[in-house]
Amino acid sequence: MEIVRTVDRLGPALEALQRRGPSLGLVPTMGALHAGHGALMQRAVLDCDAVVCSVFVNPLQFNRPEDLERYPRREAEDLALLESLGVDLVWMPEVAEMVGNGWEPPIYDLAGLDTVLEGAWRPGHFMGVAQVVGRLLDLLPCSDLYMGLKDYQQCLVVERLLALRSGQGPVLDGPVLHRIPTVRDAEGLALSSRNLLLSEEELGKARGIARTWRWMKEALAPSLAAGSPLDLASLVEEGLHRLEQEGLRPEYLSLVRDGTLAPWAGPAAGGLPRALFAGWLGTVRLIDNELLAP
Ligand code: AMP
Repeated sequence: MEIVRTVDRLGPALEALQRRGPSLGLVPTMGALHAGHGALMQRAVLDCDAVVCSVFVNPLQFNRPEDLERYPRREAEDLALLESLGVDLVWMPEVAEMVGNGWEPPIYDLAGLDTVLEGAWRPGHFMGVAQVVGRLLDLLPCSDLYMGLKDYQQCLVVERLLALRSGQGPVLDGPVLHRIPTVRDAEGLALSSRNLLLSEEELGKARGIARTWRWMKEALAPSLAAGSPLDLASLVEEGLHRLEQEGLRPEYLSLVRDGTLAPWAGPAAGGLPRALFAGWLGTVRLIDNELLAP
């Protein structure tokens, strides 16, 4: 496994990988890797002739400096995991190498996907994500891009970015985005690098998110099966109440029509409901989402 930290060494390293075959997988991460990231790597290793993983804590996507500062960093452990999973190249640049040295971040028209839900609570966050993913794709022209549904809205934003870039990038049709299901622990807690910042007691409370998903699924099941109307506002209100009872401080709990960010209007309107949540446990902000269908 090769570790590359500077742009000037990237070209030769990529050429060596491209000789292995036409498909190159890219898995962007911010490090502090866990089995959720591992699932993305495993899929990429299965699918592609060669796999690149980027480990870069992207300053452009943090809207709170203190959050960026204490984001967990575990380089040695990350490299050991990546090696064991069969990743071929790790792109691990310093901040200046990635977003400095005269590089101007482009402003993308993200079609409003960046200003609702998570984007409304974290202004500028998705523009920063799109800018750095765009930069990664310029540096690492891949055929396949792997991202987690844990960051559902991010998947939609990156899909929009790919559409904007299609026909313009070094790979003519641009990469295919693979959305990988969320990996959870035995009690349903979505794995996240931020879980490292939680105490045992807080981890117990965080599992209340999965308990709430189970309750919402059960509450929705009869009317989903029958296609009959139900009081969505009360369902969301009760969901919020349960999250608070679990010790979380929710910012939002919203139902969208799966595959979009549009509000889910109930069984009669079609589509399936996906619940999106963000909230706080102490000083740590968590997000999660779940398809509320059987
Ligand atoms: P991050 O390092 O948090 O930026 O995440 C890097 C990639 O891993 C993103 O595409 C995430 O959606 C994905 N990811 C993070 N947590 C999980 C998880 N529990 N299951 C699946 N994918 C995940």
